[in-house]
Amino acid sequence: MFVGDPHGRVTIIKNNINKYQPQSTILLGDMCYSKAIEQLYSGIRNLYWIFGNHDSDRQSWYDSLFKSSWLSQCLHASVQSLSGVRVAGLGGIFRPKIWHPKSGVMYNDLLEWKRGHNGKRFAQLERTNMTSIWPIDYAYLATQKADILVIHEAPSSHKFGFEELDDLAASLGARLIVHGHHHQFYTGVLDNGVAVVGLGLAQIAHMDIEAFCLAKNNKEIFNAFKFTNNKNGGELS
Ligand SMILES: [Zn+2]
Ligand SMILES: [Zn+2]
Repeated sequence: MFVGDPHGRVTIIKNNINKYQPQSTILLGDMCYSKAIEQLYSGIRNLYWIFGNHDSDRQSWYDSLFKSSWLSQCLHASVQSLSGVRVAGLGGIFRPKIWHPKSGVMYNDLLEWKRGHNGKRFAQLERTNMTSIWPIDYAYLATQKADILVIHEAPSSHKFGFEELDDLAASLGARLIVHGHHHQFYTGVLDNGVAVVGLGLAQIAHMDIEAFCLAKNNKEIFNAFKFTNNKNGGELS
């Protein structure tokens, strides 16, 4: 089950987890939680996440994820096999001060950034950096294989999306991208043939894993989903 940007919402998400009883749940970032995530979702098994750009806006939001005992359930810059499906994750967004496709690469990784700042302490900036997309993480993922790519930032199917993420899905051999960030629900297909699901605020996309694995084309991939209407938690289809 995939969950669009929670922005503080917990109850509606837990209600859906209890309703669908998914084998695993993935939060797509911008949780903006002030309490530790393992506390908010205590009793929920197999909860995974990537971070969004807003998860570094406040120290408490940052700590709720990055100082959590569920940090190991962060899918960022890794591939994990969930119920037999390989899921790659990339949290954060492109930022011009680190790497933006329009302006190019400023720093490859945090070490380079620290060197570039002469050892000065920029606590707030350093926190913000943690929710930026770094070339080193992208490059690592591009060497991996996965069935699904979950990202916070959008690929080119969204008008504010980036072809670099289309290319990453292609390198991974992924058939599907699920993303958040724009709080807009849609399904689409990239020029390279990869299916895309964009989710709205705290919107749920429940995927039938077997149907996804057996899907012969993008239509069958989309048919493997049930989506909720994030406004009232009811079912869209
Ligand atoms: Zn966002
Ligand atoms: Zn958001």
